[in-house]
Amino acid sequence: MKYVCKCGKFYKILKNGVPVLERFPSPDGSWHPYKLYLGDTYECACGARVTVTAHQPFIEHYMPEFALALERAKASNHLIDSEDC
Ligand SMILES: [Zn+2]
Repeated sequence: MKYVCKCGKFYKILKNGVPVLERFPSPDGSWHPYKLYLGDTYECACGARVTVTAHQPFIEHYMPEFALALERAKASNHLIDSEDC
C-alpha cells in the first residue's frame, strides 16, 4: 500500500512498530487505556505525518499483560496516545 499526502507527494516510511494507545471515555469525562496497537509512521516531504495501525490491537485492557505492555509502550518514547475510540 502507498499513501499520498494532500500536497501530492508520497509518504515515506519513518518508523515501524510505533505503539498506539486507544482510550475509551468514562462517565466522568476522563479517558481510560483500552487497546494497544502497533503501527507504522510515514512522513511526507512537507512535514505531514500519518501513523497506520494494524486493524486489530495486539493487547486489550482486560488481558493480564496489558499494564506491562502499556508501561513498555510509554518507555519507548514513541507512544501515540489517542483520546479517541
Ligand atoms: Zn505532503
